[in-house]
Amino acid sequence: MIKVSTSIPYGNACDVSIEECGNTATVYFAASPSDGPQCLWFCFRIETTRILKHIKLVLKHPYNMLMGSCELSNILPVIRKDGEQWHRIEKTYQFHTLPDGRYQISWILNNPGKINDIALCYPYGLPELESLLQTSKGYWKKDIIGVSTENRPIIRLANDYSSAGTKKPGIYIIARQHSGETPGSWVLDGLMRHLVTLETKDVIIWVIPLSNIDGIEKGRYGKDYFPFDLNRSWGKKVLRHENLVIQRDIARWMERCNPVLGLDFHAPGGAEGKGVYFFFMDKEKPVKIKNKEFLWINLIGKEVGNEYMLSGLKRNSKPEGDLKNMVGLMFTCYFDYVLKIPALCIEVPYGISNDKALEIKDYQEIGKRIAIAIIKGIKV
Ligand SMILES: [Zn+2]
Repeated sequence: MIKVSTSIPYGNACDVSIEECGNTATVYFAASPSDGPQCLWFCFRIETTRILKHIKLVLKHPYNMLMGSCELSNILPVIRKDGEQWHRIEKTYQFHTLPDGRYQISWILNNPGKINDIALCYPYGLPELESLLQTSKGYWKKDIIGVSTENRPIIRLANDYSSAGTKKPGIYIIARQHSGETPGSWVLDGLMRHLVTLETKDVIIWVIPLSNIDGIEKGRYGKDYFPFDLNRSWGKKVLRHENLVIQRDIARWMERCNPVLGLDFHAPGGAEGKGVYFFFMDKEKPVKIKNKEFLWINLIGKEVGNEYMLSGLKRNSKPEGDLKNMVGLMFTCYFDYVLKIPALCIEVPYGISNDKALEIKDYQEIGKRIAIAIIKGIKV
């Protein structure tokens, strides 16, 4: 007997069906849009009562997912057998065309356990953040700065509150505006862990690690979410309560430091696999801000290195939102155009980076290298 459930943290799957045949089984599933227009994130549990040789996992409707028009074999889900550590599934990708032009993709889960958790990428939520805090020796201070639309606490971490007037350089970091984009969180995790080991005190860093906490807890992908994407809701008039909470926190941070940089961690289309890159919007951006951002891009890109970075480092895009009235902006545009502080959006792939299957330690290594670049950058 095989059972599929989404009643696990960050659970997301739908259109599930199961075929059993001898000592093998096939589990068909799709990613649920969960009230949003886009879907990508999936996370679910397969329980079996008997020992199976393998389970074939078939992802339905990939053509309806936000893949970034890239090579679908770059998707490499993660699995956790019987409560062990998460790891990447073996590279057993197959592509199946259906008669009407639709297609499915599949992987083989060899020697499954009795409980098999499957997800698009390594999950990251409150337990992972708590584990980071427990090893931070008090370096990161945790505060609840407000609540989400659905009344969940919004956590902000700070290495230093400083006091008004000291004017150390300051960096403000946010992740998970799109709640399913866990690769960004793992890079941020590595960044924050490395700052603990350095015991960095000459820069004030405030971090919102789980900004779209409602979407995270509910297993939503969270991109273009109805009625407003968190990352299209910044500005002089906020469109979501989370933005109000965080903008007021940014104002407190600005009073306490000399603001030098905002960082916003994301993950790109699900099948993008050519490395980490900066999603850069340069239309009518003040030249002074743009030049400072180029310096940061080059510094971070050089430190992170070719194995993890997209060749060319960045992809250009037009800013979204109403730049005239400063409404409906992205986080980086809010920094650039309203606050006049350089800011970068960093996209971290879900599965593969330049032919390398990314493990948690890779994400943390990227974060460590970004931390090193930041420390170098504030000294320049
Ligand atoms: Zn995103």
